[in-house]
Amino acid sequence: MTAPREPRIVVIGAGVAGITTAYVLQDAGFTDFTVLEKGSDVGGVWYWNHYPGLTCDVPSQIYQFGFAPKPDWSKIWSTGPEIQRYHRDVAEDLGLMDRIRLDTEVTSAVYDDDAGTWTVTLADGEHLVADFVVCATGVLQNPAIPDIAGLESFAGPVVHTARWDDELATAGKRIAVIGTGSTGVQVVSALQPQAQSLVHFTRTPQWILWAPMWLPQLPFAGAALKAFPSAHHALYRGLLWGSGILADIVRNDTWRRRAVQAYARLSLRRQVPDGALREALTPDYQPLCKRQVVSGSYYRAIRAANADLVTDGIAEVTEDAIITSDGTRHEVDVIVLATGFRAHDYMRPMEVVGRDGLTIDEAWEGGPRAYRMTAIPGFPNLFTVLGPNSPTGSISLQHTAERTARYLVSWFDAFRRGEADRIEVTESATAAFNEQVVAALEPTVWNTGGCNSWYFNESGVVDLWPFDRRELDAMLSRPDPSHFHVRRG
Ligand code: NAP
Repeated sequence: MTAPREPRIVVIGAGVAGITTAYVLQDAGFTDFTVLEKGSDVGGVWYWNHYPGLTCDVPSQIYQFGFAPKPDWSKIWSTGPEIQRYHRDVAEDLGLMDRIRLDTEVTSAVYDDDAGTWTVTLADGEHLVADFVVCATGVLQNPAIPDIAGLESFAGPVVHTARWDDELATAGKRIAVIGTGSTGVQVVSALQPQAQSLVHFTRTPQWILWAPMWLPQLPFAGAALKAFPSAHHALYRGLLWGSGILADIVRNDTWRRRAVQAYARLSLRRQVPDGALREALTPDYQPLCKRQVVSGSYYRAIRAANADLVTDGIAEVTEDAIITSDGTRHEVDVIVLATGFRAHDYMRPMEVVGRDGLTIDEAWEGGPRAYRMTAIPGFPNLFTVLGPNSPTGSISLQHTAERTARYLVSWFDAFRRGEADRIEVTESATAAFNEQVVAALEPTVWNTGGCNSWYFNESGVVDLWPFDRRELDAMLSRPDPSHFHVRRG
């Protein structure tokens, strides 16, 4: 038996996954870990996104950390600023801020084959040496800027929603919004009332489920949940259990899926009486195929007298207008890009170099792949939390991150006990897992619903979690040593 030794752990990113990892490491008694965050605050997407109308379409009583329950959300579906404040409060209240270095961008992480350590290099040139690297870098972090002819020649402001300029004046302006995902729908709803005019350019319409997103949490509920933590815990567990229905409806073509799809069609029919507008807003694929959009205000906004829906493709942008393929000039003052993210970039543009000089770009030439969302062949002692195939909209992200971080603790413990120095998932276990994923994805609505979405990676495979929560918990309960090369020394 070797004497216990403390692993040096670097966690990259302080969003949902990074905060969870830091909490779990602290909870498990690890003392030598640092979280590096390129932003000026914690929160990840909730730090970077602060566009008007930002709201989480997942109820806050479940969109929270299981280890940091917040009883007193002001709304059922909270706004971005409140959620961002929560992340900051959690990091402060749990004493994690001392571990987190803000404004600290990692440019590379390189494995040293001889030493069996990672060298993490920061933008200012500083180097950190670590026994383990945990990439908690998120999915929706690199804004996708569309390749539209002439966009750079536009004289007015062009802003991507994920890099919103809080000084930008939009009231009384002629606004163009490009993109109709969850973000586009929220930003159109927020900007339309004060705009002189708003033109929404939609390449592909979305199904939009109606929900009263403005509903406050019942005034006495916060105090009651605070007074009775066990009731709050039971509510959280109940919501977690109840959300299993989401995994079921995307995975199985049953009456439950068809009921939600019928509700999506009803939401459109009831709110858009005008036949031509309704037709323009009607997708040609099944509801739930893309990440489902939820809104209680979009259809009202797009019906307003100062709003226009444009479905013709964008041909080019000039100094003061967007020209569509039918030749129409749409003169505008501001262009808002709600065009989403390069979702499969994961830790990139960071340079990640594993064993024998293998780069992450080479390893992921055909699209990101990992074993059970967390381990990559060729990259010993490097793990991801909320990495490839993580669930989106079907299983709680916070729950998934915590299960993954606790799974990693098993390996860090083995290192601490001197039982393992180099831990690398095998190619065969990764390939077997990925085959299992592809087979399980087959009947999902993401695959069969007839749409294109950001879920598809470069190889045309859906990059999501196709199993239910029970299977997720089972796969992450404890590492299977036969799936890893484990070496000492
Ligand atoms: P998104 O779902 O990827 O939507 C991007 C939109 O931009 C699509 O409508 C896309 O059209 C359009 N687009 C992209 N390039 C274009 C081009 N060159 N010309 C014209 N249109 C173009 O991005 P998002 O709305 O930012 O949402 C991303 C994810 O963030 C969501 O799916 C969700 O997971 C998350 N999110 C969640 C919430 C929440 O409330 N929880 C809120 C916002 C975002 P096509 O469909 O034709 O490609």
